[in-house]
Amino acid sequence: MTEHEQTGLADDASAETATEGGTNDNRQPDRGTPIRAETVDAALDALHGEGMAGYSYAYLDEHTKREVRRATLKAIAIPGHQVPYASRPMPLARGWGTGGIQVSLSVLGPDDTFKVIDQGTDGSVNAANIRRLAEETANVSTTTDTTEADVIQTRHRIPEEVLCDDQLLVLQVPVTDPLRKVDPSDAANRKRHAHRNYGKMWVHLYENVVEWGEINIGASYPTMVAGRYLMSPSPIPRWDTPKLDDADHLSIFAAGREARIYAVPPNTRVKPLAFEDRQFTVERFPDRACHLCGSEDTFLVELSETRDGSDGRFQTCYVCNDTSFCEKRHSDPDRPKDHHLDREGVDWGPGTPDVPRTTADDAASERGESG
Ligand SMILES: [Zn+2]
Repeated sequence: MTEHEQTGLADDASAETATEGGTNDNRQPDRGTPIRAETVDAALDALHGEGMAGYSYAYLDEHTKREVRRATLKAIAIPGHQVPYASRPMPLARGWGTGGIQVSLSVLGPDDTFKVIDQGTDGSVNAANIRRLAEETANVSTTTDTTEADVIQTRHRIPEEVLCDDQLLVLQVPVTDPLRKVDPSDAANRKRHAHRNYGKMWVHLYENVVEWGEINIGASYPTMVAGRYLMSPSPIPRWDTPKLDDADHLSIFAAGREARIYAVPPNTRVKPLAFEDRQFTVERFPDRACHLCGSEDTFLVELSETRDGSDGRFQTCYVCNDTSFCEKRHSDPDRPKDHHLDREGVDWGPGTPDVPRTTADDAASERGESG
């Protein structure tokens, strides 16, 4: 390198430093917003001003949204196939729903209504923050009512109320490939998917039966889509898996960390893997009902609380996991899950057909039959 070139490099470097220093003094909204505030509220107020002006509509730039929509269309065209896409960094850590947010923000328009649930509740911190991000950057209205939402982003649950053909369900996915459970090599698993070779998964299920007497998989139950691809339905409970079969709505599964999108289009056959003599069954809650609304045909979760103040002992009771529907049932205990549809008796997961609330025994046997 000549002496002249060296000097030139040094000059460039010093010029860059000078420019950076200059920008800091006079920062534009799109180069970062200096926030000098004493309180969090004051900082948020500052952001509501010209702070948001530097962001694109729905946070992501147009090129990214097109890229995500293109991958989504491809995923719809090949049901259950994992489509790679250029996952972007989002304003939260990967593993907290970045894939789901990228899909939601790419498809939301200003006329849409957005609902976010996390483990069945609209009120969790993560759900509330994702909802606020969409509200502030995409100008969408938000709701907690499943029947009013156009786009529903969810983690770990599919709502209890039947979804319609004008609704879109976006599921957050931590681990995309169901085969990783039986072989950690993604390269080998891609070949298995290409050849529709799922023998190793069948062996895994068989070993499961030998060890436990039944297929003992709680969530992310391996599921065949349209008779072609094996898919992880994301960590939803077995209870929710039948809701994907021949559904009216479109389901999109997105993983930000693994940069993969896959989909189940409406009216697609979704069949959980099972043996002829060891059928797929959903979770059962015999003799249990929701502590708040009395429902016996919803997915219940344990809640420990003192029910009898006299002895001060903690007793385990159960409540609906879907808080939005639990509230509706609280005011109207007989409300069916398809109350908002023209037709009745819609097949939607376990326990939905016809009489939704009977005695615990009837409900349990009904669930057993439908599973
Ligand atoms: Zn309830």
